[in-house]
Amino acid sequence: MIGRVPQVDLHQDLRSGVRALCREFPDAYWRDLDARRAYPEAFVTALTSAGYLAALIPEEYGGSGLGVSEAAIIMEEINRSGANAGACHAQMYTMGTLLRHGSDAQKRAYLPKIASGELRLQAFGVSEPTTGSDTTQLKTTAVRKGDSYVIRGQKIWISRAEHSDLLLLIVRTTPIPDVKKRSDGLSVLLIDMRQAVGHGLTIRPIRTMMNHATTELFFDDLEVPVDTLVGEEGKGFRYLIDGLNAERILIAAECIGDGRWFIERATKYAKDRVVFGRPIGQNQGIQFPIARAHVNVEAAHLMRVRAAELFDRREPCGAEANMAKLLAADASWEAANVAVQTYGGFGFAEDYDIERKFRETKLYQVAPISTNMILAYMAEHVLGLPRSY
Ligand SMILES: Cc1cc2nc3c(=O)[nH]c(=O)nc-3n(C[C@H](O)[C@H](O)[C@H](O)COP(=O)(O)OP(=O)(O)OC[C@H]3O[C@@H](n4cnc5c(N)ncnc54)[C@H](O)[C@@H]3O)c2cc1C
Repeated sequence: MIGRVPQVDLHQDLRSGVRALCREFPDAYWRDLDARRAYPEAFVTALTSAGYLAALIPEEYGGSGLGVSEAAIIMEEINRSGANAGACHAQMYTMGTLLRHGSDAQKRAYLPKIASGELRLQAFGVSEPTTGSDTTQLKTTAVRKGDSYVIRGQKIWISRAEHSDLLLLIVRTTPIPDVKKRSDGLSVLLIDMRQAVGHGLTIRPIRTMMNHATTELFFDDLEVPVDTLVGEEGKGFRYLIDGLNAERILIAAECIGDGRWFIERATKYAKDRVVFGRPIGQNQGIQFPIARAHVNVEAAHLMRVRAAELFDRREPCGAEANMAKLLAADASWEAANVAVQTYGGFGFAEDYDIERKFRETKLYQVAPISTNMILAYMAEHVLGLPRSY
């Protein structure tokens, strides 16, 4: 597709296509879902039918075979419209582990159905309640029993599990004392939750400050066939790391979308709202924070573009992907604060949507990776400072 359409036109077409689709789902749609903590089923179905969530799946498996640069534009435009790509972003990139490390049989069985939307693979189970950011210490185990694995343990914050058919799960298959490095002995399993729920898997929703459909998962001797293993046993941590750059870049794009949405709304409100006989936007106390937030969002966008270009050229991009995520998350959070300040009391009113987006964009300070962990990566892996953990 990229070969046939000049890149600038392709990007422009993607932006206008996603914008047009999002116009069908205005603020009131998201506000209503937020109040009910309901899943945006109609929106996700529309995005899937239009093929946007299959952007990264190669054409031979029924996707569009686009790059992360294009996928990022889709995510950015969704959030820029006031929507929340967090409801479905993982459908786009979770399959990357399967694509890179799955067997031919697994890829043929799953990828075309993920591309068409017949199957949803948008649940990714890493986090655990007792080990948090210290991923290699995770305690959920899968023990081999004949042709099965028996899974025992607990995951937390596993988003969209109730709206996904498949779950990509990270488990420990070899105990830490039996491996050389603590990052060895972890494995990735592709679980069909339609068969697992009620047979050893329990999903319990967690209500959070925003509408995010996140859950806790309890594995109570869930037995799954060994062919659910993706790639080689014990190499799961490496597979996990492989997928992180794409995720960081796409999340950065969502933050850029949020940031641009906040700035657009704040700018318009500052022009329209008249107090003391003049628009509040005439006061530099209101203008400058909006202008500074805009500068920071656009600077973060450049880093996001650079990271995506490197990724699509298959060049190392760990530093750039992490920097893009950190800068974009900080810029969207700054823009969110500025928007609330600009709207004054109305920034707190649900009818104006600022408070909803404010709650949504705050998440990116913590998930899928917290800002501190990015700083630790930059300090230790890029600058060569001593390891802190
Ligand atoms: C709404 C939501 C959705 C999520 N979705 C998913 C999902 O789908 N799948 C999934 O696997 N996970 C998911 N997560 C989990 C998310 O990735 C984690 O919350 C995040 O990685 C932080 O882990 P933690 O909450 O255990 O914090 P902790 O690890 O307990 O850390 C708490 C705080 O301390 C800081 N900290 C910890 N150690 C250090 C250190 N050594 N140096 C400096 N600071 C440190 C952290 O940065 C953080 O700010 C989600 C979380 C939320 C809230």
